[in-house]
Amino acid sequence: MNLADHIRDIPDFPKPGIVFKDITPVLADPAALDAAVQGLADWARPLEIDVVIGAEARGFLLGPAIARELGAGFVLARKPGKLPHETIRAEYELEYGTDSLELHTDAVSRGHRVLVHDDLLATGGTAAALASLVEQAGGVVAGCAFLIELAFLAGRERLAGADIHALVRYD
Ligand code: IMP
Repeated sequence: MNLADHIRDIPDFPKPGIVFKDITPVLADPAALDAAVQGLADWARPLEIDVVIGAEARGFLLGPAIARELGAGFVLARKPGKLPHETIRAEYELEYGTDSLELHTDAVSRGHRVLVHDDLLATGGTAAALASLVEQAGGVVAGCAFLIELAFLAGRERLAGADIHALVRYD
């Protein structure tokens, strides 16, 4: 299974000059979906994960399936104002301005080993915000797992020291 065959380039989306990696064909194909979930779960299995944290919105697609493979739980990092209970917050930089992600204060237990997950690692701002939420909650970032890494944007450098894996890498 070559997952890259199921990832589609969309030029000039969402704005001119950006080539968007569309993962919807991976999700739509049973064998590709299975390979994506199993591939990330197989990598993370030795890390003894207690809980997977996924970023809104595309981190919610594979995250719960990976968690189930690992016998772990899944927690949601959401945009401000979306989570109903008491939350903690991490800000991250966008090209213009900042954005934030929130996590329920009781979603990650002190000392729990957490897998940070999103569909795609670009500049690393989103994943670094996830890691910050985990650390604020007293958890341990045991690893970071992505379907895609845009290696030319050097997102890994924002996650210094973390064990990072992506199934498809673009240099
Ligand atoms: P970063 O914070 O710069 O690493 O960007 C990663 C976030 O942007 C992830 O939540 C992705 O879902 C989203 N993203 C950025 N570029 C793409 C893309 O080409 N395809 C799908 N998602 C993308």
